[in-house]
Amino acid sequence: MRRAGSLAPMPLATLRQVLDEAARGGYGVGAFNVNNMEQLQGIVDAAVETDSPVIVQASRGAIAYAGPNYLRHLIIAASESAPRIPLVLHLDHGDKPETCLMAIELGFTSVMMDGSLLADGRTPSDYDYNVTVTREVAEAAHAKGVSVEGELGTLGGIEDGHGSGEVHLTDPDQAVDFVEQTGVDALAVAIGTSHGAYKFTKKPDGEVLAMHLIEEIHGKLPETHMVMHGSSSVPPELVDRINAAGGKLESTFGVPVEEIQQGIRHGVRKVNVDTDGRLAITAALREALNAHPSEFDPRAFFKPARAAMKEVVAQRMNDFGSAGHAGDYEVLSLEQMAARYAGSPVGA
Ligand SMILES: [Zn+2]
Repeated sequence: MRRAGSLAPMPLATLRQVLDEAARGGYGVGAFNVNNMEQLQGIVDAAVETDSPVIVQASRGAIAYAGPNYLRHLIIAASESAPRIPLVLHLDHGDKPETCLMAIELGFTSVMMDGSLLADGRTPSDYDYNVTVTREVAEAAHAKGVSVEGELGTLGGIEDGHGSGEVHLTDPDQAVDFVEQTGVDALAVAIGTSHGAYKFTKKPDGEVLAMHLIEEIHGKLPETHMVMHGSSSVPPELVDRINAAGGKLESTFGVPVEEIQQGIRHGVRKVNVDTDGRLAITAALREALNAHPSEFDPRAFFKPARAAMKEVVAQRMNDFGSAGHAGDYEVLSLEQMAARYAGSPVGA
């Protein structure tokens, strides 16, 4: 039985605070995508088990799938059930300022304004457009204590219909100007990773991933937290299990955990992981459906799926070093964060 947690309202944490603490502790924090209750429970169970702070992120597709009210109340339920865990609710790939403002109204404590693409979510934008929309969101968000992630450069691949499919690596000098002009708390950098399951046709190494860019940007912007998108590792054993249970996935390579850990040593603080959770759930569902052909209680299938989600997320929390850090600090409220932004110039 799942026990009811404290009913006292527990403030959701902000990305800014959680990543500041991660920088202090020298670790990265996984940002895991959520669309439904079982995914969220798997993520939060993993955070409780490993005693880790966690970023739960929802895309526009997730909000459309679950419905904004369901999503909001699921997160509130999660934070009440795990009151000791710093939990950030983050909007993944906001396509335009209005979407970010809507998320803030809904109670998101962090939003990504992805101005690297135009509002169609496909066409790469120009730099001035990116600065303008990102700054607009940062001003509105910071007034309410909400954190902001921007993106400079574009990733390969398409995620929930979002992405140009073109790769433009982040320019370090432009990153400095972008952070100065927009005041973002975190910056998604393009270093050659892609969204989706099919990232690389061969095992990526320092030649494929532009790790030197991370080091260079960190040297120029030591106070800005870097974000790695498309950072699922795509474990071959999960792909094999899916295919053994009737799936048809092509063999592919994700981002090796060691590459992510190298990024974390050079200022990467938020690591986006979506595909690994999808693979784990699909593997467990296919196996459970095959193993129990006469079963028709969906719980028989969702239970192992939830457990599989928890397992892969807990593994990442250990990999990224966030395990054991949930109790390091008290969560600051949005009001406290707003006061902090008001007392300091943009970007500080
Ligand atoms: Zn992304």
